[in-house]
Amino acid sequence: MDLSPTPAGWDLAAALADVKARVHLAEAASGRAGSGVRVLVATKTWDADAAAAVVRAGGTLVGESRMQELDAKGEALEAAGAHVHVIGQLQRNKAATAVRFAECVQTIDSARLAERLSRLCLEAEREMDVMIQVNVSGEESKAGVHPDEALAIASAVQALPALTVTGFMTIGLHSPAEAEVREGYARLREIRDQALIRSERGSAGLTSAWELSMGMSQDLEWAIAEGATMVRVGTAVMGRRELP
Ligand SMILES: *Cc1c(COP(=O)(O)O)cnc(C)c1O
Repeated sequence: MDLSPTPAGWDLAAALADVKARVHLAEAASGRAGSGVRVLVATKTWDADAAAAVVRAGGTLVGESRMQELDAKGEALEAAGAHVHVIGQLQRNKAATAVRFAECVQTIDSARLAERLSRLCLEAEREMDVMIQVNVSGEESKAGVHPDEALAIASAVQALPALTVTGFMTIGLHSPAEAEVREGYARLREIRDQALIRSERGSAGLTSAWELSMGMSQDLEWAIAEGATMVRVGTAVMGRRELP
């Protein structure tokens, strides 16, 4: 497996500080100053040294997309003190890697995947946070459940013994059109708000499902304006990916 080292001369700590400054500005600009939007650093395609280095620079929340990579980097991330989230599509036959190394799987897109994770977590005597991935843009290439199905799946997943649904995740429309991108993010926020409202009325059991994981290097300001609680940033912290 081909993974990239941190390029010589790239200052991870400075890049991370720049991203955090962008987040703070965006919070203030949208009337959310001090709301504590978290930065998850997407370390996919970067090798174990690079991933551990960003953790030591303060980027302790990291996202990995491919379980083959997480197998290779998991121990280094663990040793550096990382909190690992799975942010790529997870095959059921790779779920054991997530259970071994990840605190949260953000990409739950079926009850079957959640059932498998729950069973493996019970075997490992651990609990796991999960988010429901929703395809808000409607693009066929994008993973995630249909917005109309998100609440039903979230409730079904929350009912499983070892899992806690902490919120909803989406990959936004890849477009320079602000209004269209934000419309998708607003849709995810509405789904989250519905989950919390129904839970208050006692019908959904999703009282922990308040997270909105949305926004990346290019559009994190738009996602924060629409209520993101966590942005997932790769390129702006790690540098440009050479690998796919
Ligand atoms: C790679 C990745 C990101 C980060 O993308 P950048 O554009 O490099 O910031 C965010 N979310 C997911 C699901 C990713 O796979």
